[in-house]
Amino acid sequence: MEQIEPQFEPSSQNLWDEILHMVSKDIPQQSFHTWFKSLELVSATDEEICIGAPSRFFVEWIQSHYRDILKNAVAAASGHPVKVNFQILEGKRKSSSSQENPFPAVKVMDKPPIPKGDGLFIAGSVNLVPHLTFDNFVEGDSNRFARAASLACAEKPGRTSFNPLLIYGGAGLGKTHLLQAIGNFIIGNSNFKVIYVTSEQFTNDFIKAIEQRKREAFTRLYRSADVLLLDDVQFLMTKEKTQEEFFHTFNTFHSSGRQLVFSSDRPPKELDGFDSRLVSRLQWGLVTEIAKPEYETRVAIIKKRSAMEGVEVPEDVAHFIAFNITDNIRTLQGALIHLFAQASLMGKAITLELAKRSLKDFIFKQESYISPDRILEIVGRELNVSKEEVKSRSRRKEIAEARHIAIYLCTEYTKLTLKAIGSFFGDRDHATIIHARESIAQRAKDDPTLGELLDRMKRLVEISSV
Ligand code: ADP
Ligand code: MG
Repeated sequence: MEQIEPQFEPSSQNLWDEILHMVSKDIPQQSFHTWFKSLELVSATDEEICIGAPSRFFVEWIQSHYRDILKNAVAAASGHPVKVNFQILEGKRKSSSSQENPFPAVKVMDKPPIPKGDGLFIAGSVNLVPHLTFDNFVEGDSNRFARAASLACAEKPGRTSFNPLLIYGGAGLGKTHLLQAIGNFIIGNSNFKVIYVTSEQFTNDFIKAIEQRKREAFTRLYRSADVLLLDDVQFLMTKEKTQEEFFHTFNTFHSSGRQLVFSSDRPPKELDGFDSRLVSRLQWGLVTEIAKPEYETRVAIIKKRSAMEGVEVPEDVAHFIAFNITDNIRTLQGALIHLFAQASLMGKAITLELAKRSLKDFIFKQESYISPDRILEIVGRELNVSKEEVKSRSRRKEIAEARHIAIYLCTEYTKLTLKAIGSFFGDRDHATIIHARESIAQRAKDDPTLGELLDRMKRLVEISSV
C-alpha cells in the first residue's frame, strides 16, 4: 500500500461521516465501536477512497466481515460505486511501543463463493459458511447430545431415526453452527444437494414467489434438495401461509426419506401459533436441547477461537472471560474479539490487566464486586463439592474444609459483614465464621499443600472479578 497524501476537499469529511453513519445502521453498535471508530479517511476521489486503519488485523477483519457493508455504504454515500482501499497508519497507534504487532495475520475467512441458483430465491445459493464445521465446534456436556445427533444425521442423511432432527435452545448457543456443520459435512462428503435457509429467508422467498407468480419455481427449488436445514423455525409462528407451504415441504421430504433438520429457540410445544399438525411432525424424529455452556466448555471455546485467529491468549485471560461471560457463546466470542482488537489497536500484548479494561463494556450484567455466590462456585468446582454441601451441617472432612476455605475467601474478598457471611453459609453465627477464618489462615501457614491450595483459590477469585 503506497503512501498517499491527504488530498480531499472539505466535503470529504462529510462523505466519511455519511459512510460511517450508514455502516452504523447496519451493524451492532458494539461492532461499530470496535472496528470503525478508529478508522479515518486518507483520501477520496471520484473513483476510489482510501481508508486508514490502525493495523493489519483491522484491515483483514473489516475485509472479511464487513466488506460488503462498507462497499455499499461508500457507494450509497458517493452516489455510485467506488473502489475501497486501505492503508495502515502505523504511526497513529496510541502506544508508542515499537514492539511487533502481537498478532500474525488473521486468517481471513472469506465468504464462500455462492453458487447461483436461479437468482430469484435465497435458497438457490447454498448459504453455508465454511468455518462452521464439526471440527470447530467445541463439545461439552451442554451440547454433547445435540452434536452427536447432528453428526449422525450428517453421516447418514435421511437414514437415521433422527428425521426430522430438531435442536432447540437459547440465543447464541450454537444451533446455527450445528446446522451449518451438518450442511458442510454433507456437501464435503457426498453429492447431496443441501439447502440451508433461515425461516425468515424461507418466508421472504415464499412471499416473493407469490408476488411474482413463481410459486412453482419455489416449490421445485425446495423440493429438489436432498437435505433441508431450516434455521429458527419459531419465526414461522405468526406466518400461517408460510406454515402451510412448510407443511407440504415437510411432507415431501419426510415421505421420500430425505433429511430435515430444524432449529428453534424453544421446544416445539411452546411454538404458539403453530399448526398442531406441524408441532406434532416436528417431534416425529428427535428433539434435543442445547444448553448454556459450562465453565470448562467456555474456556475451551475461547482457546479454540483464539487458535483459529492465530492469537495466543494467556491462561488467566481465558479463565477471566469464561468466568464473566456465562450464558451466550456469541457474546463470549464478541468479548474475545473485542479484546484482540483493543490489543492490536494499542500495540500491546494480551494480559489480564488489558482484558479487564477492555471487557468492561461486555461485562455489563455481572456485578463488579465479588459475590459470595461466585466464591462458592469457585470453591465448589475446584474441590468438587456442591454448593448445598458447603452450606450444610455436614462434618465430612472435605466438605468442612471447603466450607472453611469459602468462608475465609468471603471474609477476604466480599464486603459482607461477618453476620451476613454467617447467614449466607446456612445460618451460622458470627463466632463460627471467625473461627473458620482463623483456623484456615493458621493451617495454611503450617501446611504448604493447603497454603498452595488457598493461593490458587485466591488467584481464581481475583481473576474472576472485573
Ligand atoms: P444460535 O444459532 O444458537 O443463536 P450460533 O450457532 O450462531 O448460535 O452460535 C453463536 C456463535 O458461537 C457462533 O460464532 C458459533 O460459531 C459459536 N459457537 C456456538 N457454540 C459453539 C461451540 N460449541 N464451539 C465453538 N463455537 C461455538
Ligand atoms: Mg442461529
